[in-house]
Amino acid sequence: MNIAIVGTGYVGLVTGTCFAETGNQVTCVDIDANKINKLKNGELTIFEPDLDILYERNLKQGRLHFTTRLEEVIEKSKIIFLALPTPDGGDGQADLKYVVEVAGQLGKLIDQYVVIVNKSTVPVGTADLVRATIRENYPGEFDVVSNPEFLREGVAVDDFMKPDRVVIGSSSERARKMMEQLYEPFIRQGNPLYFMDERSAEMTKYAANSFLATKISFMNEMANLCELTGADIDKVRLGIGSDNRIGKRFLFAGIGYGGSCFPKDVKALVKMADHHHYDFRILQAVIEVNQRQKKVLVEKIRKHFGGKLAGKTIAVWGLSFKPDTDDIRDAPSLEIIPALMAEGMHIRAYDPVAMENARRVLSKEVSYCNDLYACLDGADALAILTEWSEFRNPDFEEVSKRMPSKLIFDGRNLYKMESLKELGFTYHSIGRS
Ligand code: NAD
Repeated sequence: MNIAIVGTGYVGLVTGTCFAETGNQVTCVDIDANKINKLKNGELTIFEPDLDILYERNLKQGRLHFTTRLEEVIEKSKIIFLALPTPDGGDGQADLKYVVEVAGQLGKLIDQYVVIVNKSTVPVGTADLVRATIRENYPGEFDVVSNPEFLREGVAVDDFMKPDRVVIGSSSERARKMMEQLYEPFIRQGNPLYFMDERSAEMTKYAANSFLATKISFMNEMANLCELTGADIDKVRLGIGSDNRIGKRFLFAGIGYGGSCFPKDVKALVKMADHHHYDFRILQAVIEVNQRQKKVLVEKIRKHFGGKLAGKTIAVWGLSFKPDTDDIRDAPSLEIIPALMAEGMHIRAYDPVAMENARRVLSKEVSYCNDLYACLDGADALAILTEWSEFRNPDFEEVSKRMPSKLIFDGRNLYKMESLKELGFTYHSIGRS
């Protein structure tokens, strides 16, 4: 099938590449000419494990194409996906300007039946809005489908190729059949493809992200209470996670959720509720708890040094919002590092892949280091902000040599308390007193 993906970011590029991998002819469109040039010339624009293999193969075999010109893809595409940004518009509401703009252009360009699929995370009712916007300029037949994306950065290729489920919101039988055909290779193991109406599909995505964010904030509050009561959050986590109704995943306490989705999606759902005069109390608390949790490590550092942070140097391991991605959008590091710098601390930072992105947004005063050990040279303490695998089992002798203070603030609970104590470290973590 000939398909187009409009918006070639984390979701668009993975979606396009994976559809090409199953034999489709895919053209990815983006207004960022620099990005498109790189992708045309064999240079990937994001770090995502395993994406390089699929991207190179499909580029070479002529199934994956890139352009800045939307008009180029219209005639041949049977399905057009929108994988456009839907950022916080400033008041918490999802900003639909990118989606509406492209819908307006599509209305002027299409001249035969096509299925427009919204893959962006959008408020309930957006499929209707896109339909109405296209209709302003195009009187012919077309369908708008809501197909929210559930991939996780860091394992996006695997998630896309073997999704837990595919959700398709559409009231058109014709569009449903085309979507079913397109997704058939991805659900061969029997994972479900759920058909529903557009509004329920749009809501499903917000419900999923908000539920997961709630789980994180709940565990972070439990962690804070564990510290006060002398309980250990990691033991509590194991104790509750073995209950199937609760489940083992997403129970790790830490320094708050970040990334390009949870923060904006939880806020957008609260705003959506507001709009319908519904007070979504749990989610308001989830947001508040998360904001507070992002400051927990700074508090611990401040307390340890008796408030005297000026002139001290701290090594930071991890800048991305989670491991295996170069995405730093809304990462805890973007709050913690400026907060420490505001109190006069010097920062030496290391991240396996996110330093280039971090450089663009963090203060020029941050020093970036080539590896995790070099980062410790001259540091008074180490703060761990992302749970990259390479941080899980470092050479602690080397750590001690480079950082004689042997002081660690671990926002991700990577190490056993007893082991670090035996090695002579002062070790602060989350929810373990
Ligand atoms: P992104 O910012 O990485 O990519 C969006 C791309 O759209 C950018 O490359 C941008 O240049 C391009 N764009 C903007 N306006 C355009 C236009 N008029 N024409 C063509 N291209 C245009 O965003 P993302 O992370 O891929 O997210 C896209 C959507 O998917 C969002 O709604 C997000 O909430 C949702 N989502 C993201 C993830 C994730 O993990 N990143 C997961 C599931 C859903």
